[in-house]
Amino acid sequence: MEKSILSLETPLSEIKRITPVYLKKLHKLEIKTLGDLLFHFPHRYDDFTNITDIENLEADQIATVQGEITDVSMTKTWKRKMYLVEAEIKDKTGSVAALWYNQPYLTQTLKKGLLISLSGKVARDGKKIFLQNPAHEILRTENHFLIHTGRLIPVYPETKGLTSRWLRFQIKQFLPVIKEIKEFLPSQIIQKNKFLALNKAIEEIHFPTSQEQLEQAKRRLGFDEVFLIQLFLASRRSNLKKENAHQIEFEQPLIKDFVDNLPFKLTNTQRQAAWEIFQDIAKNNPMNRLLNGDVGSGKTLVATLASLQTAKRDFQVAFMVPTEVLSWQHFNTLVSLLKNHDLDIVLASSSQNKHFNAQTKNIASINKNQLNELIKTGVAKVIIGTHTLIQKDIKFKNLALVIIDEQHRFGVQQRAKLVSAQTFTPHLLSMTATPIPRTLTLAVYGDLDISILNEMPKGYRTVETKVVLPKQAQQIYQFVAEKIKNDNQVFVICPRIEEPDQEEILTKKGKIDWQRLEMKAVETEYEKLKKIFPNFKLAKLHGRMKSQEKTEILGKMQRGEINMLVSTSVIEVGIDIPKASILWVENAERFGLAQLHQFRGRIGREGQQAWCFLFSGKENSQRLKAMIETNDGFKLAQKDLEIRGPGEFYGVKQWGFPELTIGSLMDYQTVKLAREEALELLKEDSNLSKHPTLKEKFADFTKNIHLE
Ligand code: ADP
Ligand code: MG
Repeated sequence: MEKSILSLETPLSEIKRITPVYLKKLHKLEIKTLGDLLFHFPHRYDDFTNITDIENLEADQIATVQGEITDVSMTKTWKRKMYLVEAEIKDKTGSVAALWYNQPYLTQTLKKGLLISLSGKVARDGKKIFLQNPAHEILRTENHFLIHTGRLIPVYPETKGLTSRWLRFQIKQFLPVIKEIKEFLPSQIIQKNKFLALNKAIEEIHFPTSQEQLEQAKRRLGFDEVFLIQLFLASRRSNLKKENAHQIEFEQPLIKDFVDNLPFKLTNTQRQAAWEIFQDIAKNNPMNRLLNGDVGSGKTLVATLASLQTAKRDFQVAFMVPTEVLSWQHFNTLVSLLKNHDLDIVLASSSQNKHFNAQTKNIASINKNQLNELIKTGVAKVIIGTHTLIQKDIKFKNLALVIIDEQHRFGVQQRAKLVSAQTFTPHLLSMTATPIPRTLTLAVYGDLDISILNEMPKGYRTVETKVVLPKQAQQIYQFVAEKIKNDNQVFVICPRIEEPDQEEILTKKGKIDWQRLEMKAVETEYEKLKKIFPNFKLAKLHGRMKSQEKTEILGKMQRGEINMLVSTSVIEVGIDIPKASILWVENAERFGLAQLHQFRGRIGREGQQAWCFLFSGKENSQRLKAMIETNDGFKLAQKDLEIRGPGEFYGVKQWGFPELTIGSLMDYQTVKLAREEALELLKEDSNLSKHPTLKEKFADFTKNIHLE
């Protein structure tokens, strides 16, 4: 009956066997349909495959015995008031006792004369051995399909009240539905890779017939979602490549002259990256490239080269940065690098607009209308700004290149906004805020071409990093005071701006949230530190201050008029203060590795000795340890990936993939294979019209995934 009417789409609420209590628990796990249930995979397996004759049982092994129940009894231990159920099992070679603690209800199922299968640990009590709390399963028919004993037993991620035993029992009932699951992978991919069929793989993942078959099932199912992701990225990529872009031809003398006039030599990887970009932007379809580099690897310079070439071909460049402060800094950097090249440069931030006039070589403040006019007429060649660049009603004359600095990923929608009202799609260069490990670039950024900057132009900074426990603070104060006297500047970073008010520190249940309460705040730390360091000049900085105030303070910091800046994470990205050599992070455990690495990138920028103090009550934090071990951003990113898993990494979790997939994203070989197969398939069937089942599955997949 069930077989014909049930499908993967059937809501579990229509299945009578599943009571409302269980429905609720399932909903908590986002399991709503039969398909959800069948695709809820075990996270590990108990190996109960060792089926033994009773006479061969040995203490301490994990074993399965099968036989007849010859006796059942229940007693209550006296001291601990615990129920003990004991059963005697007999097979043709002998008999053995099984003992269960605290499961009185077992006497309802375990009845004399029944055949039973038991799996568990063989324990010893004096000379006697017995089975301790074994899993059990009554054998009602000759060829009973075992699900709790005598095989590899699936164990599902725990949720209160939803036991693996219950899940196994339910899933077993749907074996006929599993057999009907339609294949969606093209048969050539299955054959070439010797994959299990989908229905077989699902059956094996729940009830594996052997370790080998289980591995095959994992290989197949792990491939599936990664393949769909790759298909998604590849089709997005090929769609983009169909659009038109302005061709920006490479002009060797221009670039050579620029590079020759730099006070330093380009690193090899900068040279390589620039070359890759020049080749891309010379094409008539849009570039989509990620510049993957560590803090201080010199990304801005590479971006400047591309900007120069583009602007010199009379096109416009939009250079977008995540914060106001960074936009001012980049404006200054680009003006100073490009000032002799006869290009008008503007700054468009929410608080101020500026214009570098190439003729007069002056910088002037301008109003919004003037700004819009300069951009619309194409006078402004390089436009630097924050996200307001795409929010303001700015019209470009001929935008050909968009550069996004210090972002993990620039959204497709954001790009669409910039592109709208243009017949040409701009080339896109995005630059990472922190390096992305190789494993993930392919898995998640597969629609981008990638240039890697893994050389540090000034060498790795000499930063000494230390975790500081509260009791060591006094020592650090003294040290810091000494260093300030020797002309070093200090950043103090706190996780919040102000002390929390009453309501904020209460959890939803009305309890005090101690973690929040302990978070150090800029305002209070600033007051406190002013007393500790009365002879020095302190200032504070946070996102709620007026921009003018912020600029003033950063200006003072730059000129060395401030000794210690107490700040929130606003100083995280890109800020360049040459004499900053001490970084002091309060509640360091509250920040991610990538963020801490960014903070540390703010000190020792001129190659001077620098110190990073991570104040934390948590001495043994893996993250803080990793910070001490290495200064190399790529290594830290890899470490971060290992500690947190890709699920937490770069918001991968929000995309909504199942756990198995998230695991597969770590597996470079799987990702590589999936990518190759996706590209090959799209080459011969670009809209999947020859593969209707896959097309349907893919449409479904893209609906549920939020890849940004
Ligand atoms: P990031 O990749 O973190 O954005 P920047 O572009 O800010 O790094 O570069 C960091 C510093 O290194 C800047 O002061 C920049 O002028 C300098 N720099 C860039 N390239 C080189 C190079 N090839 N040799 C020496 N210094 C360089
Ligand atoms: Mg930068």
